[in-house]
Amino acid sequence: MKTETEFEIQYGNSTIQFSLNYSARRTLGISVYPDQTVKVTAPANCELKKVMTKVEKKAGWIQKQKRKYASLDRPTWTPEYVSGETFYFLGRRYRLRVLKGIESVKLSGKFFLVTVPDKSKKGIIKNLLDSWFKNHANELLKNRFERWQSIIKNEKIYFNAIIVRKMQMRWGSCTEKGNLILNSELIRVPVDCIDYVIVHEICHLKYLKHNNRFYNLLTKYLPDWEKRKMKLEKDYR
Ligand SMILES: [Zn+2]
Repeated sequence: MKTETEFEIQYGNSTIQFSLNYSARRTLGISVYPDQTVKVTAPANCELKKVMTKVEKKAGWIQKQKRKYASLDRPTWTPEYVSGETFYFLGRRYRLRVLKGIESVKLSGKFFLVTVPDKSKKGIIKNLLDSWFKNHANELLKNRFERWQSIIKNEKIYFNAIIVRKMQMRWGSCTEKGNLILNSELIRVPVDCIDYVIVHEICHLKYLKHNNRFYNLLTKYLPDWEKRKMKLEKDYR
């Protein structure tokens, strides 16, 4: 006979709910599904207390799996760094191909070729790719910014410094001191969307709020900004 009951445990600030099934199996199994449900299957004679302790021990892993499913295809998605995985660069899809050899990262056709001495060391693949993206983000975002800054220079907008760094929630922002901050993750979206974020933030250096004057300035330099904004929000959020 199959019995299934709902239980929950507390993990930090979050509650993990799971269904419990008893079966003839000899060890306890935990599965997390794409809809973020958690199913636990325990040996028929296993005490509930023991089940709870085991689930608590695996809570960190369960949360990680749930987050993975919750964030698929978003900028915060966590890659596994295995061959066949998709990475975006300037809005184009590339497949990761992990090769054995001397450390390097290369774009070739539709592939990111990452070469490492030991293919099982995911941390090294991650670091190589991260620094490749970071370097390209730094160079490209700064170039695009300089281009737009010279186009918009007649507006006499005060500007102090440009900072490229990873941000969780926003593509760009600016400070009252005239600093413009761009999310390094922008390197994954098409250049026309990158330009939209840059011009939007440059306009904020003049008008902090989204008022008419702000939108007039934005439209003056980027008449199709709405189209670019929609593309960015639809495809890359
Ligand atoms: Zn804004």
